[in-house]
Amino acid sequence: MVEKLLEYQEVDRSLKSIEEELRKSDEFKKYAQAVKFLKTVTESKAQIESKATSLLSSMQALEAKLKQLNEDKNEFGEIKDIENEDTLAFLKKKSQELSKQCALLETEIEKLTKEMTELLRSYKELMDKTKLMLAQQDENKEKYEKLSKDKAKEKDAINKKLEKIAKDIPEEYLNKYKEKRKDSKFPIIYEIQGKHCSACGTELSQLALSRIKTEKIIECENCRRLVFIKE
Ligand SMILES: [Zn+2]
Repeated sequence: MVEKLLEYQEVDRSLKSIEEELRKSDEFKKYAQAVKFLKTVTESKAQIESKATSLLSSMQALEAKLKQLNEDKNEFGEIKDIENEDTLAFLKKKSQELSKQCALLETEIEKLTKEMTELLRSYKELMDKTKLMLAQQDENKEKYEKLSKDKAKEKDAINKKLEKIAKDIPEEYLNKYKEKRKDSKFPIIYEIQGKHCSACGTELSQLALSRIKTEKIIECENCRRLVFIKE
């Protein structure tokens, strides 16, 4: 049974290498890159929009404050005919304070304006890149599909061979193999040498060694590949 599974793996190796070749192709990489980027666009857009909302409301608050200060300043300017020196000094001081506050606010508004411009720039950048990535996605999807189609015949032939071999392998073991095949690791099944997994070199526990006597093929406790003892 193990022999058959090893034979299966040998044939499967060429299927795996076609899959690898496709996955490593420029077309696939560019397609995957575009898909990955496009998945983040909604989130990035939402972040920019929420930042814009908060900048806008800060701006409105600052502008209202500035308006109020300017009105206060004007009121002070209208007070005339005061002879008391202390009152005059107080009013002068107050007016200076107001001017200072106005200047500070204007600086803050300027800073906020810059932030808004920057945010707008990053929004435009995001939109431009999205457009590019959509085109990259479409173009490479098509190219990759063509590439896969070119390999389809070869893959079909291998799959037929695999099906034939699979008939002699108990389903339980074949399923274990197929489950592992979904991972990127290959080969999947390894012989135990002495008490060690020949994939990762870990010594198997007593429990694993006794399980293997009945189950024939088990998972290595360390690398999770399938291991067996040669009969
Ligand atoms: Zn291992």
